[in-house]
Amino acid sequence: MESSDDEGDPAAARLQPALAIRALLLLSFLLFCYQPQSRPRSAPRAFVAAEVKTVAVKKKPKAPPKKARKKLYLTFDDGPNKGTKNVYTIVRDEGVPVTFFLVGEHVFDSHGQRVLFDSLRGAPLVELCNHSYSHAHSRYSSYYGVPDSVVADFRRTHDSLDLRNDVARTPGRNIWRIDSLQATDLKASTAAADSLQRAGFQLMGWDAEWHFDHKTYAVEQDAETLLRQIDSAFSRNRLKCPGHLVLLAHDQAFAAPADSLQLRRFLQALKKRDDYELSLATEYPGVR
Ligand SMILES: [Zn+2]
Repeated sequence: MESSDDEGDPAAARLQPALAIRALLLLSFLLFCYQPQSRPRSAPRAFVAAEVKTVAVKKKPKAPPKKARKKLYLTFDDGPNKGTKNVYTIVRDEGVPVTFFLVGEHVFDSHGQRVLFDSLRGAPLVELCNHSYSHAHSRYSSYYGVPDSVVADFRRTHDSLDLRNDVARTPGRNIWRIDSLQATDLKASTAAADSLQRAGFQLMGWDAEWHFDHKTYAVEQDAETLLRQIDSAFSRNRLKCPGHLVLLAHDQAFAAPADSLQLRRFLQALKKRDDYELSLATEYPGVR
């Protein structure tokens, strides 16, 4: 006799197809819901795309090309002397770069001048250049008549002050010898100037001057007048190199408080002008 287990319960036999269908549906549902971990889901993908779009929208518009700034070189001659300390204090307070063209002999005239030289040497934003050793003792014609002596005089300052550049200014003469930039105000000095250039010096003259009275040592232009003259020199392009102006001033003109005040006002006015940029002598075009 066959076991009832072989044929089974008829009711149970009817239930089996229904269970199989349910299991199949459950499996389909699970497969539908399943997504491998490595695949990015649709929602984050959409979010990333939105982010990229947002970044692209927020991208800054292109800035207009920067206007070239006018370069101004503030240079002070003949120190260290009675006015040098005031000049140094003011330019340090105002935080502006300046160049001092030093007379070698003046550094060794007194202990105070030597100390002042040491202060300048260690100061930030200050550049020291060569203005000869003797300043020709103010006998310019005979001085420039002997080119070899002129070269020796400049070398003496370069070596005794251990200067770190070859930029120099001739005493009493507005002479330029910077690479191909050549200009000589008085032709009798040409041979001496050429000798200095051959010896490796780069001679910087000036485009504008802050004049002073040679008897009272007071400045002749106030700060506003000087600034107008500088503006005019740029607009008329009365410059050795377009876009660059070298201003000559003298330390000794700023020994008195009234003149020092003009210097301070001039520097403060310049700092408000964003069309100007103050530079050091060694930053002038063509200087090695
Ligand atoms: Zn001088």
